[in-house]
Amino acid sequence: MQGIQPFRTVIQKRYRHLFFDLDKTLWDFETNSQETLRDIYFRYRLPEKGIGSFEIFFDTYNRYNEELWDLYRRNSIAKELLRVKRFTLTLNDFGITNGNLDRDMAHDYVTLSPEKTGLFPGTLSTLEVLKGKYHLHIITNGFEEVQHKKLRHSGLRGYFTEVITSEDAGVTKPEPGIFSYALSRAGARAGESLMIGDDEAVDIRGARASGIDQVLVDYNNEFPDSEATYRIAKLSELLDLL
Ligand SMILES: [Mg+2]
Repeated sequence: MQGIQPFRTVIQKRYRHLFFDLDKTLWDFETNSQETLRDIYFRYRLPEKGIGSFEIFFDTYNRYNEELWDLYRRNSIAKELLRVKRFTLTLNDFGITNGNLDRDMAHDYVTLSPEKTGLFPGTLSTLEVLKGKYHLHIITNGFEEVQHKKLRHSGLRGYFTEVITSEDAGVTKPEPGIFSYALSRAGARAGESLMIGDDEAVDIRGARASGIDQVLVDYNNEFPDSEATYRIAKLSELLDLL
């Protein structure tokens, strides 16, 4: 078999519609979240209230945030409570028990973070090339208002024809319902579509179960055994595939 190169499916297949996940695929959730928390740390004068450094505040917040998200995933806490409690517990750690501060900070976090504009390197330049050749769409788990705000503020909106949120679809990825809804909104067939996302369980398995090929964007090399059709380490590698 020496010298015989297998044909790559990508050469044979004609994709027409590319569906992108938003958070942690295009929009840099971690960086934007950290920036928002830094704004909040200074806005509420936390250094003067006894929280000596942003790093300590950030580490404490992250610890509680992760614990509460674990509870949320097990349906043990409501999202509204999670949003406030991660600040309540953080402040309590530093002896701050002011009744409204946690609520104000929680409100600011949810309001301000979607206005952040951090994208992964190569996002705009890659989309710029792809938009001339394919129909580009978004499929995202999240709220209409929040996800649209992120797209507008970060300059992404103009690249996408259809933006499908789970709130609008009434179902979340990886449920097949959101993919069939997205295909119908875009006027696309599964066989000519490609889903691009960072989450093996949500984006990749969801799309595969709906007959859509998938690209895993594995920024941190977390899924070497991914079952995705393709796996790339950064967004610009899409241009080698497509
Ligand atoms: Mg994601």
